[in-house]
Amino acid sequence: MLKLGDGLVSGRYSVKAKAPPASLTEYDTDQEPPKFQEGVKPSQFKALIGKGHEEFSTMRQQDSEEFLQHLIDRLRSEAKRQGRSEDTEPTKHLKFGMEQRLQCQECRRVGYKVDGVDLASLPVEAVEQGVNEDGKKLFKQVRLEECLESFCATETLSDYSCSNCQKRVTAEK
Ligand SMILES: [Zn+2]
Repeated sequence: MLKLGDGLVSGRYSVKAKAPPASLTEYDTDQEPPKFQEGVKPSQFKALIGKGHEEFSTMRQQDSEEFLQHLIDRLRSEAKRQGRSEDTEPTKHLKFGMEQRLQCQECRRVGYKVDGVDLASLPVEAVEQGVNEDGKKLFKQVRLEECLESFCATETLSDYSCSNCQKRVTAEK
């Protein structure tokens, strides 16, 4: 992490690339060609963090959310291994409490539960809006607020075990 941070903030890698990436073959010739930089390539970092992990040690797993969670877990276990306190561990700033409110629809009793999490998986609605001239699918723009609203929307649980009613009931989450 130190090496990566140093590489990113030092500016040593923010230099113009000798040639555009091989994947880029065409650009509008009327305009000035885009400038590229080699930058810090993430492959070495991913290989190191993914070492020993069933999925991340290969190219199979490409889920960025799972990778971020794996990275946070690795940093925590490394801190623990080195005997460092959790209070001085930078990953603590990512952790937050996700509160869940459950209400029994029969006795109306409300229960709260707080889980310590690092990430919130927001649903992003994909509404297709035709294709562009290259045949690439176009999607409707989604606002972050909409994703947060649908994440926090009320859900009905049909098989909730209420400790007050002592039976399976319908609950609102
Ligand atoms: Zn109840």
